[in-house]
Amino acid sequence: MSLHKNIQEILTPDQVIELLKKGNERFVNDDLRNVKTHHVLELTKEAQYPLAAVLACMDSRVPVERIFDKTIGELFTFRSPGNVVNKDIIGGMEYAAKVAGTKLFVVMGHTGCGAVNAAIKGTKLGNLTHSLDKIKPAIEQTKGFVPKTVKNIKYVNAVIDNNTLHSIETIRKESEILRDMEEKGEIKIVAAMYNIATGIVIFH
Ligand SMILES: [Zn+2]
Repeated sequence: MSLHKNIQEILTPDQVIELLKKGNERFVNDDLRNVKTHHVLELTKEAQYPLAAVLACMDSRVPVERIFDKTIGELFTFRSPGNVVNKDIIGGMEYAAKVAGTKLFVVMGHTGCGAVNAAIKGTKLGNLTHSLDKIKPAIEQTKGFVPKTVKNIKYVNAVIDNNTLHSIETIRKESEILRDMEEKGEIKIVAAMYNIATGIVIFH
């Protein structure tokens, strides 16, 4: 469990990745921990010491806590269409790192991402267009695939991967706080891919 300050302090970012991988293994094996709600509420009502912060897509098939077998107080989660970042999310991550002591930041894309597919197709839809525009750099960076259409799953998955990397680049560029903490080795920012068919998370 990661509900205690001393555990959060002791663990390195790499050890947190291992804990997330173990939680994902339990999820995939249908072996989730039996967490008693009131016990956890009692433990967390005064303070929080989350181990990791995860930025994922809003997709209903990507329930972040469940995928990592995590409960109340264990993760900060940020969601957006296509896991794109904005100032509010980056500000939240700065709080997580600087104030709440979180050491691992994961930007997690997923297979079958509707936002990435829509961006590839050039879809325009109200305010969503603004989010989809943020996926364009990843599309431009994804070279060497024929055809470059949503029918080519290898191409789409490459764009999804590049999109998580692009979000990380943006976080590093926009946040002096996170950049400094990462350079000092206090935190780590990593990309991951969640497979919506197998339930497996691959860390890059
Ligand atoms: Zn998605």
